Amino acid sequence: MPVQGHATMTPGDLVRIYRRMREYGLNDPHSGNASLRLGNQVWITPHGAWAEELTDAELVLLDLDSEIPTGASWDTPLHCATYRKQKAHGAVLHGHGLYSVAVSLLGGSSFEPLDFEGRLSFPRVPIVDSSPETPFEDAARAVSEALREHPLAIVRGHGVYSAAASLEEAWHHLAALEWSAELAWLHQEVSPRASRKTAGRDRLRARLSRQSAKNPRRRPRS
Ligand SMILES: [Zn+2]
Repeated sequence: MPVQGHATMTPGDLVRIYRRMREYGLNDPHSGNASLRLGNQVWITPHGAWAEELTDAELVLLDLDSEIPTGASWDTPLHCATYRKQKAHGAVLHGHGLYSVAVSLLGGSSFEPLDFEGRLSFPRVPIVDSSPETPFEDAARAVSEALREHPLAIVRGHGVYSAAASLEEAWHHLAALEWSAELAWLHQEVSPRASRKTAGRDRLRARLSRQSAKNPRRRPRS
């Protein structure tokens, strides 16, 4: 497979990769988003894009230094912040792979793959949090920061962001993470040691929730 550089990627490639994310089950028909940076210009999928039907003409073109046009994905600020913070990135993808999201719900601030390929490509995937009140703002800040150094970041309980020099490379990481996460999930289901760990965590959660029911925390005054 030829390696794509910034200059060789086209809006048509962006549509192809966004559709592929859907075909592989990493998004539902209208979720996720994808962008491609060429110099100071960014092509991004529109808000509410329909993966199976998306065409080049529906992509939104913007300038990194200008205001975000209406109709662009709600995650556009995150994509722009990622490109501004890491000049080497030429593509950003966002998907909702089930296992990638599931492992983020187990707790912790990162996901460490157990499989050889995953450990080689992304030994530690940061997991960041976002509040229900400001989910897009929180994710834009935390994810763009994480993607400075890492190829992938997971927003807990939400989805995965992948950034790389090319669309193909970003796609490769997104798909490979889902594979590693599925393997890790299967492993914790069958491993007696992991099951004991999970059971201990479940007992701790149950105890904490009983305690908080007895002593509800007072809301801080604003
Ligand atoms: Zn999402």
